[in-house]
Amino acid sequence: MKRLITGGAGFIGSALVRHIIRNTADRVVNVDKLTYAGNLESLAETLADPRHAFEQVNICDRGQLDRVFAQHRPDAVMHLAAESHVDRSIDGPAAFIDSNIVGTYTLLEAARAYWNTLDHDARARFRFHHISTDEVYGDLDDPADLFTETTSYAPSSPYSASKASADHLVRAWQRTYGLPVLVTNCSNNYGPYHFPEKLIPLMILNALEGKPLPVYGQGNQVRDWLYVEDHARALYRVVTEGKVGETYNIGGHNEKQNIEVVRSLCALLDTLRPRTDGRPYSTLITHVTDRPGHDQRYAIDAGKIQRELGWVPQETFESGLRKTVQWYLDNPDWVETIRRRGSPVGAPAGAIAAPQQAPTPIPTP
Ligand code: NAD
Repeated sequence: MKRLITGGAGFIGSALVRHIIRNTADRVVNVDKLTYAGNLESLAETLADPRHAFEQVNICDRGQLDRVFAQHRPDAVMHLAAESHVDRSIDGPAAFIDSNIVGTYTLLEAARAYWNTLDHDARARFRFHHISTDEVYGDLDDPADLFTETTSYAPSSPYSASKASADHLVRAWQRTYGLPVLVTNCSNNYGPYHFPEKLIPLMILNALEGKPLPVYGQGNQVRDWLYVEDHARALYRVVTEGKVGETYNIGGHNEKQNIEVVRSLCALLDTLRPRTDGRPYSTLITHVTDRPGHDQRYAIDAGKIQRELGWVPQETFESGLRKTVQWYLDNPDWVETIRRRGSPVGAPAGAIAAPQQAPTPIPTP
């Protein structure tokens, strides 16, 4: 089978490419524009594999997409390419409208045109799998509530609104044109190769450099965390065994307050890389003014994918977080490469940071 993966140089996409190349006989066509968030260094182990073809293409470019479909003739599309950082969507929503909405529309049209050329069996086998987020559901007030596949959409940020729009387009392309689609909505991912503007890598790298650890408000926002390799396994299970037209929520059953996550990271670093002055890393925690429109709590009911497809996460939060911290300690070169390229590593745009309002200015490299 040949999988056309969009966004395969990003955090989750590269984990998916590594998973497929390591564990299956499938071939991968990796379509990525290489924005600031896309890194070929994250694909170092797979780039030379003859089963992996890389195409530097913008998903808004219909001509290039038509060429890629005609040249590689994939059996399935797994669509991850997106602008993905909420803080950036607040500062500049235009790129989110372009890539997440217009890009998804353009990819759907290119996929549909290609699908229409296939013979009966290949058309029946084809899948268009859209990888989305639990943020489309908005946030939860009642601590007992969970997002299910039938929860109404109520996105809060330009990012989540653009992903919600893309989900609607994907489902409409099935209803209207019969394109065989699947949608997955996943909770917060963490793990190796995570771009350092996001909460967990930002905190690890700031801590290692003795910089403040900026936490939005009291840090009591709750997120459900999933180790990225568990997400990659779930995505492969859905594209191979999922029922056409269905939505599957994916989550880690790890609801944590942001401040708990930061404290756990500090405790791990205290053990794995103690500070030279002997002080705990938690003394670097700094509370900053909350993000506008910040959702309070996300929590996923992942029962459907467990019952129907037999997927459960393999990592606990404790084992996954330890692996993640160890990976950042072992791979300073990956971070350095991004830094050298001028990407905003360590810039105060972390998932829970509000830099411009931080009481202590956070230096950028
Ligand atoms: P990321 O920002 O790390 O990677 C996105 C990738 O898409 C990058 O390689 C980038 O170069 C590429 N890209 C962006 N715009 C493009 C365009 N116009 N054309 C081609 N390539 C383009 O994102 P991620 O964290 O890996 O997330 C991947 C997908 O999973 C996204 O769709 C996101 O909404 C979704 N998701 C992410 C999370 C999470 O916690 N990170 C959780 C649930 C769902």
